[in-house]
Amino acid sequence: MTLQRSLWLLAFATAVLLSGCSRDDALQQVLADGELVVVSRNSPTTFYLDKNGAAGFEHDLAQLFAEELGVTLQMDTAYSLGGIFRRLQRREAHFAAAGLSLTQARSAMFNHSTPYASLVPRVIYRTGRRKPSGLDDIEDLHLVVLAGSSHEQTLQELKSAAWPELSWEAVRGADTMELLERVDSGDADIAVIDSNEFRMQQSLYSRLDVAFNLGSEQDMVWYFPPGDEYTALIERADTFLSALQEDGRLEQLREQHFGHNTVLSRVGSHVFARNIRSKLPAYSKLIRQVAEEYKLDWHLLAAIAYQESHWDPEATSPTGVRGMMMLTGPTAREMGVKDRLDPLQSLRGGARYLKNIRRRLPADIDEPDRTWLALAAYNIGLAHLEDARVLTEQRGGDPHLWSDVMETLPLLQKREHYRNTRYGYARGREAANFVQNIRHYYSILQWKDMSANQPGQPLNPMQFLPAALQGERFLAL
Ligand code: GLU
Repeated sequence: MTLQRSLWLLAFATAVLLSGCSRDDALQQVLADGELVVVSRNSPTTFYLDKNGAAGFEHDLAQLFAEELGVTLQMDTAYSLGGIFRRLQRREAHFAAAGLSLTQARSAMFNHSTPYASLVPRVIYRTGRRKPSGLDDIEDLHLVVLAGSSHEQTLQELKSAAWPELSWEAVRGADTMELLERVDSGDADIAVIDSNEFRMQQSLYSRLDVAFNLGSEQDMVWYFPPGDEYTALIERADTFLSALQEDGRLEQLREQHFGHNTVLSRVGSHVFARNIRSKLPAYSKLIRQVAEEYKLDWHLLAAIAYQESHWDPEATSPTGVRGMMMLTGPTAREMGVKDRLDPLQSLRGGARYLKNIRRRLPADIDEPDRTWLALAAYNIGLAHLEDARVLTEQRGGDPHLWSDVMETLPLLQKREHYRNTRYGYARGREAANFVQNIRHYYSILQWKDMSANQPGQPLNPMQFLPAALQGERFLAL
């Protein structure tokens, strides 16, 4: 054998070996690159941007898995369900996490994980119209579904089985909210969407309700590209999902994202009155001290702390925010807070964060709107607040006024609006409620304090109320 020939053989053998390594094991590749690439879709039920960056059920779940593997998560979005599967086909992502149902057709083409949630496909209609009670009632209705969705497959099967008249419009897109929008506006009669998606968005569409279920329960799974090289990665994913299921973290995550309406309920006024007496005295000195340090009104700082934790320095939420001011890990680090459960550090961190945000708002926003807008950004992030202000202006409102921006914030939850914004979906209604609650507590604290300092002077609490709150059902302290 000539030297040239042996060198060539050696090179060939090495190439085969190397390609074998990278091709035969996706898990090894993820570990070697230190990055897990996941494809999802931008929607409130899956993946969106929050004040702390990426959020959503699928994001949080994938993030936990990436942490378990010790790698970073790179979450990409596709704009249609078809787009998600095309990316898998082209192996542009390690898997898809997008509220995807397990179907026969999909599992014939792709690998998948064990189920991590179950859902029921629901037929949604607008109340006040005739309520369809089964497939026979919907044959002549204008039905909308997401193109390429599991529901489209189900409808196809039903059509060929016994309902040849069944017809529907397949809407290209990746967000079921668009379907609800169509039914709500009367543009379509009914829509088929998953139960978890409907539960989460129902509060935005009070006229819509479930007519009946389309078939039985389905499993939600992660899909992986086809091929044996994904086996080890899928095994790791399955082990991870089972462990999460067993230790209750999966349930916690589901509960946090889908279990309740995300809109904050106004905390009972009588509870607030009781807490002013029972809890505030222990912290009022500390709150006053920090307010003084940061040149803030102490009533305001106290109101924020109450909204955040009910003045509980040990408060912890399943999302990992903690302490009196419920700071996230990254915010605490940025603000130099070492121990989030230390009330003094937590109050300082929150006060500093608020001041930073207030300073960064455009100079032409005056008080008191400046503080209310800063509070909104404190909750939702400056980027989304900016989106809301742009939207406010487009709709003829004044982006310098809290009352106008407050009206616009909930629109960031509606696809029709957020698809044209720079930063996409955000829990705007929650942010608006966050600010309004704080203003409510703030006024009461101010009033309490003044009445305490001026004994014998009857004070009218209404005179201290922000205009936006006057006329609302109010508490008796
Ligand atoms: N779960 C659906 C699917 O896998 C997507 C969400 C929906 O259309 O409700 O296609």
